[in-house]
Amino acid sequence: MNKLIKKTADLILSSKKTIALTGAGISVESGIPPFRGKGSLWDKIDPMEYAHINSFLKDPEKVWKGLLIEMGEIISQAVPNDGHKRLALLEKNQLLDTIITQNVDGLHQFAGNTDVIEFHGSFAWQRCLECHKPLETTRVDLSKIPPECECGGLLRPDCIFFGEMIPEDSLWRSRKISEECDLMIVVGTSAVVQPASMMPEIAKKHGASVVEINPEETPLTDRITDCFLKGDAGKVLNQLVSTLGIK
Ligand code: NAD
Ligand code: ZN
Repeated sequence: MNKLIKKTADLILSSKKTIALTGAGISVESGIPPFRGKGSLWDKIDPMEYAHINSFLKDPEKVWKGLLIEMGEIISQAVPNDGHKRLALLEKNQLLDTIITQNVDGLHQFAGNTDVIEFHGSFAWQRCLECHKPLETTRVDLSKIPPECECGGLLRPDCIFFGEMIPEDSLWRSRKISEECDLMIVVGTSAVVQPASMMPEIAKKHGASVVEINPEETPLTDRITDCFLKGDAGKVLNQLVSTLGIK
């Protein structure tokens, strides 16, 4: 493992443009369960029944009660863990340019990263289906479910449900920086949700090295990954940062 950490540190130091792609796994140590794998949300509820746009439009009360209220509570209590903090430290030392995250929890920005592409949107905001006005999630009145905008329209989170398109500008910019980077660090993603999982493929095709940090292997590990750092994000990134000797 030490050899692989050292190899990754060398890749970071020699790279002119490094980006990270993160998934639910980086927030597990902050107490937010992932969607897949052990202890995940999908062990408890059926995604198609709760997280598909058609389910939300058909029965918003059920989706608010079965998924969104709990998500709001979990996210509002979560704080960045060592994984988020070390990625912020890499940016501070000009060793990381941009994070593409599939997460909707806002913890990368909370930790201090300034260039974060929220590929699936953000749970920090809700949007009215009628007048499109945004409202901070912490200010939503939950005394009526589903909650409503002041115009009486239905509120929905500003992140995407299954069955919805990735915002065009996020997709375009993510593709572009994946083509341009010399190194992509992939942290805590099962790499099965398209099109986010295409980004490491794009990076690799354009000559970048790919480092993966995950306690489990993924479909990328054998095909795409140059350096697989097996373990929890916080622990592995702590080791990496101490090898780099940055503060
Ligand atoms: P996923 O749930 O499909 O996979 C999680 C991955 O993280 C797995 O590969 C698992 O092995 C790994 N993992 C578990 N613990 C880890 C740890 N401590 N450190 C590093 N890795 C760890 O996640 P995904 O690939 O991001 O796809 C799920 C989708 O669900 C995303 O698109 C995202 O929008 C959404 N989601 C977001 C959040 C959040 O905002 N925190 C939480 C759950 C799901
Ligand atoms: Zn409204």
